[in-house]
Amino acid sequence: MQTNMLIGGEMVAGTGEALPVVNPATGEEIGTVTEAGAEQVEAAVRSSEEAFESFRLTPPAERAALLLQIADVIEAHQDELAELESLDVGKPWPSARDDEFPLTIDTFRFFAGAARTMTGSAAGEYVAGHTSMIRRDPVGPVAAIAPWNYPLMMAAWKLAAPLAAGCTVVLKPSEITPLSTLRLADLLKDVLPKGVLNVIHGRGPTIGDSLINAPQMEAITVTGSPATGMAAMRAAGQQIRHVHLELGGKAPVIVFDDADLDAVAETIRYGSFFNAGQDCAQPCRVMVQGGVYEKLVAAVEAQVKEIRTGAPKDDGTEMGPVVSEAQRARVAAFVDRARPGCEIVTGGAEGAGGGFFYEPTVVANVDNDAEIATEEVFGPVVTLSRFSEADEAVRIANAGRYGLASSVWTRDVGRAMDMTSRLRYGFTWVNTHGVGTPEMPWAAMKGSGTGCDMSVYALDAYTSIRHVMVAH
Ligand code: NAD
Repeated sequence: MQTNMLIGGEMVAGTGEALPVVNPATGEEIGTVTEAGAEQVEAAVRSSEEAFESFRLTPPAERAALLLQIADVIEAHQDELAELESLDVGKPWPSARDDEFPLTIDTFRFFAGAARTMTGSAAGEYVAGHTSMIRRDPVGPVAAIAPWNYPLMMAAWKLAAPLAAGCTVVLKPSEITPLSTLRLADLLKDVLPKGVLNVIHGRGPTIGDSLINAPQMEAITVTGSPATGMAAMRAAGQQIRHVHLELGGKAPVIVFDDADLDAVAETIRYGSFFNAGQDCAQPCRVMVQGGVYEKLVAAVEAQVKEIRTGAPKDDGTEMGPVVSEAQRARVAAFVDRARPGCEIVTGGAEGAGGGFFYEPTVVANVDNDAEIATEEVFGPVVTLSRFSEADEAVRIANAGRYGLASSVWTRDVGRAMDMTSRLRYGFTWVNTHGVGTPEMPWAAMKGSGTGCDMSVYALDAYTSIRHVMVAH
């Protein structure tokens, strides 16, 4: 197991505390990874600052070539990396490889192309005798903080766009799932110029905090919880920094009477319980128009009862454990607090075995303002609640604190268009949920963050618009 960090072009062991790495499918410790010491965080930050001076000047084609090389390296090692991911997060096999790696790899390939598209929007004589041009230049070294639910895919989202823009990056994976990112660091050591990527390991409130507050870091990008987003904004507020945040979500799935209910139920089975529900776009808050409510509850129940949970490598495992004991306790507490006021249709208990299993859970007759309908559970739990009219559905959905993913299910194109224009969410699917592609923004509104990952718009967080004027 590769547990060293990448600092200043060298793989080095941490000088801080040894943190356990636990297999969520068994609850057993599989090793330890040593955190960065304070001097190592400083060294990583310095290395990123030094490397920026030359990396920012590289031609886009050179950066594109590096990004394509990264994609090729990940592709060549995808079995090994996916094994680490499955071991560390409890992801079912072969889904850990087949469902996640195509997008992870394609993210680098997309940004290889995007690196070559950056242009300013105008050049010309706006003042007589002066030529103006608008430039888009890399913003500076980036502090990147990644979560534990898709460790390597989120690392890809945190790396590909800033590298395409010409920024250097110090990346910190989650302290509970560092293995795939540390192995990637090792694989990229000889691909990227020294200092362009530094990877450090450690806990959020200490190592992460030092990184986002380092004065050399010109931008902060976080995928994580709202609390971490707030910490990033506070850090940025101290020094005036660019901040890009992809935080939690509570995706409404708005189902009208004319929807294809079988398609909804199937999407809930495969979308809501994928990655044991630990997904910021998880279709988790199903809002159903009165006329089809009972029918949809029955269809969802039938689908969810068929989900096979088990160890990642067991035959037929569709859903694995949640990531940690703490996460399982958090999920169970949400369900237990909701229990008196609603109906647990299926699940609602810990799963068998030594790992952190929680049963796929469907909760019906949920009030639209109940905690379990409005707060992010981030586990294998979906709720069903009722609405009667489109206006009411929009009001309920928009009242939430989050604004990431949403979906609308109807055969009426006009109604679908009307709903998509009124929902205040970074993305809205119609008659599907969860389909992502690097060309399209994974965008946040409201309490879900600022800006987006993926698409050419992701480059905005890592570039500054500049005006250059020449008098003649
Ligand atoms: P988390 O915020 O606890 O941890 C995320 C990262 O932030 C970790 O690397 C952690 O060490 C670091 N961190 C924590 N406190 C910090 C601090 N004070 N300073 C600097 N870094 C700090 O989140 P998590 O539990 O790992 O991930 C789950 C959350 O991430 C959920 O809310 C989920 O919705 C969100 N998420 C969002 C997206 C998206 O695209 N919007 C994608 C995946 C996950």
